[in-house]
Amino acid sequence: MLTIGVLALQGAVQEHLDCLNALPDVTGVIVKKAADFESIDGLILPGGESTAMGKLLRQFELTQVLTDKIQSGMPVWGTCAGMILLAKNIVGEKSCHLGLMDISVQRNAYGSQLNSFTTNLLIPSVSSAMIPLVFIRAPYVESAGPGVNVLATVDDKIVAVEQNNMLATAFHPELTGNLAFHSYFAEKVRINNSSFSS
Ligand code: GLN
Repeated sequence: MLTIGVLALQGAVQEHLDCLNALPDVTGVIVKKAADFESIDGLILPGGESTAMGKLLRQFELTQVLTDKIQSGMPVWGTCAGMILLAKNIVGEKSCHLGLMDISVQRNAYGSQLNSFTTNLLIPSVSSAMIPLVFIRAPYVESAGPGVNVLATVDDKIVAVEQNNMLATAFHPELTGNLAFHSYFAEKVRINNSSFSS
């Protein structure tokens, strides 16, 4: 059984937990304090508001433990605001949050809440079927370093990336009922666990 946490400071937490718990051999748990990091095999940083989430991470003194865990190889998946938390650079801003993924992101890249949209895309490395993608005040990746694997683009904009143990999507798979990305991430976690035990 895999235990996958969802950072529960702010944002779309329950939706991710429901998706994780719908997968075979996966338990989704909330992560709120440093001790919670000890019992998880992987972590989702949910969508919400990255400035608020970054502030709460610092306020609850979780930035360091989270950084250490990711740097030591724990699989992490940032969705939307979570992608922004992982990025090394945020366009137009002087500082970043965790700064672990070699991407530069543009926040609110598609405009206001009114410009939120849904589309369907074939992402062969994730699923052989079309995947619905929901964008809500979403960022996109303006540029990515050489170690970053681009998984998906929409209208020439990079919207899903992977770099070693880190996965980031500009959209919200937890809001669609489609479990392809959750399965993909759980597989990443499973592979990471078995590489430890072998
Ligand atoms: N616009 C938000 C931010 O900049 C992200 C939106 C989301 O996570 N749906 O943090």
